[in-house]
Amino acid sequence: MSNGSNGGQRAERVCDVVVIGGGQAGLAVGYYLRRSKLSFGVLDAQVAPGGAWRHGWESLRLFSPARFSSLPGWPMPGGEEYPTRDEVVAYLAQYERRYELPVHRPVRVREVQPHAEALEVRTDGGSWRARAVVSATGTWEHLFIPAYPGRERFGGLQLHSALYHSPERLAGKRVLVVGGGNSGAQILAELSQVAHTTWVTLKPPSFLPDHVDGRYLFEQASAQYAARRDGRVPERPVSLGDIVAVPPVREARQRGALESVRPFLCFTERGVVWPDGSESAFDAVVWCTGFRPALDHLIPLGVVGNGATVEVRGTRAVQEPRLWLVGYGDWTGFASATLIGVGRSARATVEEIVAVLGSEQGSGVGDRGSGVRGTATSTALPLGLTFPDP
Ligand SMILES: Cc1cc2nc3c(=O)[nH]c(=O)nc-3n(C[C@H](O)[C@H](O)[C@H](O)COP(=O)(O)OP(=O)(O)OC[C@H]3O[C@@H](n4cnc5c(N)ncnc54)[C@H](O)[C@@H]3O)c2cc1C
Repeated sequence: MSNGSNGGQRAERVCDVVVIGGGQAGLAVGYYLRRSKLSFGVLDAQVAPGGAWRHGWESLRLFSPARFSSLPGWPMPGGEEYPTRDEVVAYLAQYERRYELPVHRPVRVREVQPHAEALEVRTDGGSWRARAVVSATGTWEHLFIPAYPGRERFGGLQLHSALYHSPERLAGKRVLVVGGGNSGAQILAELSQVAHTTWVTLKPPSFLPDHVDGRYLFEQASAQYAARRDGRVPERPVSLGDIVAVPPVREARQRGALESVRPFLCFTERGVVWPDGSESAFDAVVWCTGFRPALDHLIPLGVVGNGATVEVRGTRAVQEPRLWLVGYGDWTGFASATLIGVGRSARATVEEIVAVLGSEQGSGVGDRGSGVRGTATSTALPLGLTFPDP
């Protein structure tokens, strides 16, 4: 349910739990809150469902089959197929409708302020008061670009992968692609078909074997989790940070388009200077250099550390026990920044909130979690997870 309730409304709302962010992490938390007796609202800055997936580049596909990319309760349609960006967005949109999640958009949370009796969530559409807040704002809104001297002098186009859509506008151009992760490899794979590309990576890129896709990675991750849980020393897995050889990447590798060089020293107005003193001219730089957690709204709580993370025990903030964080990466739960992994963090988070707030409580104005129960199915998912209806 997207009821776009900000509409200039300024009245303060009161509920048990406010979830900030309506991407996959916020929806997974909403799924479990729906099954509690707590009242809650999900506030999302986007104009439509899908979170960061709405902004992925046009050819982006998941690196794991649909069956291994599901949120709790309802498997993503598509079975063994590798879903496209648009299919993920459609799934998330349908997911929030299916479970009638009270998502309010577009509502941007400006800041969360602490008060003795509650947390105040200040938005561009009025304030909410909640006994607990779950921050699930992801990383997409906080782009990371490394500091290179003279970057501001460079006269060409600079584009972060978060804002890259398709290769057409760079056709025929000299393009520097910076970053040795999956985004860098995939964007380079398609750009190198139409542009003159140079790939800069900190070290030689590390490719996973061709048979390794997201499903294999998740199985490995699951085995690791089980080993740690059972007190065994986990086997060393293939690195989850290495590049998955998805079909476009394999094709580019065969073309010889995936050779990389080490970083340049600095920018000039027209290009870059390499360590041997030579210069190259470029028309554009595509920064595939990742993201950081989007946590600015939590700064008034005094919980955001220098490393741009929050100290947590499980998913609960140590310095503000009315705050939980879900979906940002392993520091907020194992594999929690993936579609399939976030369910486990979401469930543990809601269980803890229910225990803390007491399931008999309800504050009135927010949407009742207990209102809808009928549509979920008990679904066995990979990662050794099951997400049964309580
Ligand atoms: C290129 C790429 C490929 C990936 N491939 C896979 C894959 O194959 N399989 C997989 O499982 N995962 C994959 N991931 C990882 C992961 O699934 C995504 O990063 C995912 O979008 C994270 O979901 P989220 O809900 O945590 O954050 P987001 O999707 O970013 O959602 C957060 C929401 O919060 C909103 N928000 C932010 N700040 C505020 C605020 N102050 N107030 C209100 N709302 C706010 C945002 O607008 C957004 O709607 C991939 C990621 C990338 C970048």
